[in-house]
Amino acid sequence: MASSTDLAAAAKARGIKYLLISYTDLFGAQRAKLVPAQAIAGMQRDGAGFAGFATWLDMSPADADLFAVPDPQTLIQLPWKPEVGWLASDLYINGEPVDQAPRNTLKRMVAKAAEQGLTLKTGVECEFFLTTPDGKAISDAADSADKPCYDASALMRRYDVITEICDAMLALGWGAYQNDHEDANGQFEMNWHYADALTTADRHVFFKFMAKSIAEKHGLRATFMPKPFLGLTGSGCHAHVSLWKGEENVFADDAGELGVSKTGYNFLGGIIEHAEGLCALFNPTVNSYKRINAPRTTSGATWAPNTVTYAGNNRTHMIRIPEAGRFELRLADGATNPYLLQAGILAAGLDGMAKATDPGPRLDINMYTEGHLVKDAKRLPLNLLDAVRALDASPMLRASLGEAFVSSYVKLKMADWTSYTAALTEWERANTLDC
Ligand SMILES: [Mg+2]
Repeated sequence: MASSTDLAAAAKARGIKYLLISYTDLFGAQRAKLVPAQAIAGMQRDGAGFAGFATWLDMSPADADLFAVPDPQTLIQLPWKPEVGWLASDLYINGEPVDQAPRNTLKRMVAKAAEQGLTLKTGVECEFFLTTPDGKAISDAADSADKPCYDASALMRRYDVITEICDAMLALGWGAYQNDHEDANGQFEMNWHYADALTTADRHVFFKFMAKSIAEKHGLRATFMPKPFLGLTGSGCHAHVSLWKGEENVFADDAGELGVSKTGYNFLGGIIEHAEGLCALFNPTVNSYKRINAPRTTSGATWAPNTVTYAGNNRTHMIRIPEAGRFELRLADGATNPYLLQAGILAAGLDGMAKATDPGPRLDINMYTEGHLVKDAKRLPLNLLDAVRALDASPMLRASLGEAFVSSYVKLKMADWTSYTAALTEWERANTLDC
């Protein structure tokens, strides 16, 4: 638990008055305590105390205190409130790491890759909507085009919010490089440079917190909900993936198909093989399944996959190989837990490498219009229940991600599903009253 950066000294030097000691629970919610700088030294050593059961963790009210021990390397001075410092934390109980905790789970996977001298590097593309504060409508009534993607005027009407977030990323040294209006009315995407998996996951967590906070400041709401508006394109979280041995990208091979090495195809094969179980992590909400497997949207396409297939530079499949040395996983959505997204990619990819898994044939067809011609393409789960059952039934994912993590995650997600199905809906009445 020792660390090299003295947070008390860092706070003093940077004029930080309070520190948010935060952690991400199993459902991706960010929990925090706001600690005055005067008290940070003890918290850095022992962690901040929480009642784990009160958050989305598989714990009981009788459990001992959960301690969030901040990782000083993650310190970020809030760009919109510089007197506050933010910290990601690792969870401990009775001095032992909590195996089910998402950041701990990713760190175990990163360590597993490191044993082979490998580093996963990813960039994530976080799509989100800017809505009215109640979340019921997009915030810009003039943003109503059928094909709103890259709409310059709609983008500029949100200039103040988008540039405040982008300026913050530039100041933080993330290498922000573009912002656009996305394919749904009211939808945006902001891109920053890729990095190692843990760094990207911490930034992904912070990005969501920052986008929500800055939107709120401007009287708006930023939502990463996968499908907030039926008929409009949903919010994905595409991940661009490459694997490195030191300075060498082991996915790159000039002699390989599309410039991707055998290792790259095996890694990709692992993701294809375990896609159904991974959906429980990448598409973790009831709402997620209204984005994938969705009917065509008003813009003409959903841009989300329906099948477990891959292609070259073609966005209608689950995996796209846009250029040599990397692939884009288009499966995950805005609700994915940033740590579990990276952990899932690593678990399946490393398994594919270990077993030299063949990803099957590349399909260079328009999957939305010609998908029915491919008879044996695996379908994605149709709902959260099927995905959680697939994760539950996967010996590989259980072993690789950790038995304690998978058991806890499955237990809470099953309860989530049960809570959803407990509601008596109008649809049921309309379709069943006269049975
Ligand atoms: Mg996009």
